[in-house]
Amino acid sequence: MSAYELHVVTPGDGVRLNVIDPSRTPGLSGPNDLEKAAAIRELAQNVERMKLLQRRLYAESKRSLLIVLQGMDCGGKDGTIRHVLGPLNPQGMRVASFKKPTYEELSHDFLWRIHKQAPARGEIGVFNRSHYEDVLVVRVLGLVSETQWRTRYDRINEFERNLTESGTRILKFMLHISRDEQKERLEARLADPDKAWKFNMSDLDTRSRWDEYMHAYEDAVTKCSTEHAPWHVIPADKKWYRNWAISQIVLRELEQMDPSPPPKAKELEGVVIE
Ligand code: AMP
Ligand code: MG
Repeated sequence: MSAYELHVVTPGDGVRLNVIDPSRTPGLSGPNDLEKAAAIRELAQNVERMKLLQRRLYAESKRSLLIVLQGMDCGGKDGTIRHVLGPLNPQGMRVASFKKPTYEELSHDFLWRIHKQAPARGEIGVFNRSHYEDVLVVRVLGLVSETQWRTRYDRINEFERNLTESGTRILKFMLHISRDEQKERLEARLADPDKAWKFNMSDLDTRSRWDEYMHAYEDAVTKCSTEHAPWHVIPADKKWYRNWAISQIVLRELEQMDPSPPPKAKELEGVVIE
């Protein structure tokens, strides 16, 4: 089975996160260290192929791809961007990180700031957090009323359909780490002067509400995995597995899109450069 088939959330199916083991490495066979070496090798090959297809997508300039990354703190959103998407040409990319909304953003509907960051034709867009925060942190912390957040799943599905009908393919990834793995990564973050800045006291509050977040994720992924914008739950305790699986799924999508540069113009036939 392909990484896509292994991890895609079939529209209409419910997801139970506690039965998906974040340390699993499905789709790779062999003893663990061999698996790891093979995954790292294949990631490098996938990235090379993605670079070529990105160049064609950019040249074609008709469609775009949007990659949405969600996950708990330390889930690996930044790492995925660095290792899987970082090697692509920044000229054809648009990476947007969504933080706590500003006063101005809060004065608009929740999709206002999101829509502005959607990739233009020819681009690959990456959302580091996204409109899903509006049914995750917002729900768990009760930042708006339940009646308000409950309507958002439909709004999100409509919004994503609107994007896909305008030529954007959408892939959504939930980076699924265990609570134990998060502990280790938070501890490592605290201990490393180059990483400690990422540590936020509010991360501990979020961590203490782990089960509520998992429940909110289950709802978001279940209600918003659609044919046009499927969710994938990626076991993410092993960084090399996460990178491999996401690169496989992104590459598969680009291959299916099969972008092609515009044909050589007629007037260029027979042109001689002196
Ligand atoms: P980080 O990704 O670690 O830089 O943190 C960004 C923070 O912004 C996280 O704690 C998110 O939960 C928070 N955030 C992102 N979007 C929203 C939102 N729509 N409402 C409230 N908090 C948000
Ligand atoms: Mg953080």
